[in-house]
Amino acid sequence: MTKNIAVIRGDGIGPEIVGQAIRVLDRVAEVYGHTFNYTDVDMGGCAIDKYGDPLPQSELEKCVGSDSVLLGAVGGNKWNDVPGNMRPEKGLLRLRAGMGVYSNNRPAKIWPQLADASPLKKSIVDEGIDFIIVRELIGGIYFGEHKTEGDVATDVLKYSEAEIERIGRIGFETARKRGKRLCSVEKSNVLDSSRLWKKVMHGLCEEYPDVELSDMLVDNCAMQIVKNPAQFDVIVTENMFGDILSDEASMITGSIGMIPSSSLGATSCGLYEPIHGSAPDIAGQDIANPIGTILSAAMMLRFSFDLDREADAVEAAVQKVLSEGFRTGDIMSVGCRKVSTSEMGDLIAERI
Ligand code: NAD
Repeated sequence: MTKNIAVIRGDGIGPEIVGQAIRVLDRVAEVYGHTFNYTDVDMGGCAIDKYGDPLPQSELEKCVGSDSVLLGAVGGNKWNDVPGNMRPEKGLLRLRAGMGVYSNNRPAKIWPQLADASPLKKSIVDEGIDFIIVRELIGGIYFGEHKTEGDVATDVLKYSEAEIERIGRIGFETARKRGKRLCSVEKSNVLDSSRLWKKVMHGLCEEYPDVELSDMLVDNCAMQIVKNPAQFDVIVTENMFGDILSDEASMITGSIGMIPSSSLGATSCGLYEPIHGSAPDIAGQDIANPIGTILSAAMMLRFSFDLDREADAVEAAVQKVLSEGFRTGDIMSVGCRKVSTSEMGDLIAERI
């Protein structure tokens, strides 16, 4: 199989972690007889420095024209003072909208080898943590009008029935393939957009009689994720709630550096990225954890290229390296061996 992958290394630790994911993809290509061609795309702070724009149209077109996009992370203090519509993160929002990827999938799963790294009590971790947050990605308050007039600032939160329905279906479909329990999270005691959200979700129930739908207010959900995470199978929610809850969910699994994500729309061309940011505090030191990016590449193999066997091989290699006791600094524990970003990439690639 030949696939063309657009690669956005980005800023901070982005180039270091993406480099390791490419090492792993190259190893998959070698072992299973595929060809992966890579096209570098500039986005984020590095694109601001080069073009004065976090995502010029020509760079976006490289992504839209590819079979899938692998992204490290963008942003950093250097670009904090650039105007809002030119900030590095704006490139990311434009990329998601330009690719039409409206569904972001983030697994929150505890690796048994890292159970000690969870900040939760052992008794809670022992109940198991294995759920997915399906987050709406290109609507809501991040995409509404933003304006500041004098000393008043406004951000508009708006959703249409059609936008809610298409993400709702992804939630139901995802639950159908797992434990058949879907929890719809909103703030319907206060927000009109949430009342519409709840109505549309319940309207979809009839089509998915095998899936049990429940509702939860977002503030309660934030609490339940730390109190009793085992109760969740699939959570579906809007953009900003999903952004916040998925960071919370990632922390209870041990490290933000371990979690991959996929973003998909109507086609198989997806956007794959770790959930963390560009970590400027550790950039350039070869100490970042590349596993979230490597597992994002595995998701790309599975969801965009239908290469399940290859994706399984990458995930098994990660599992093996962790079982053998190798750790980057962020997941280090007593009795384990500390390795660098590039050593971790080498170890995983060697085990495929
Ligand atoms: P961050 O995720 O970059 O870092 C938070 C903490 O986690 C830091 O202490 C960092 O060292 C650590 N960390 C993150 N990834 C790690 C990894 N792979 N291995 C080990 N440790 C890791 O969040 P932040 O500090 O709030 O943001 C830094 C920059 O990243 C900001 O400019 C922000 O806007 C940007 N950002 C980008 C994205 C993205 O590109 N998708 C997402 C979030 C934040």
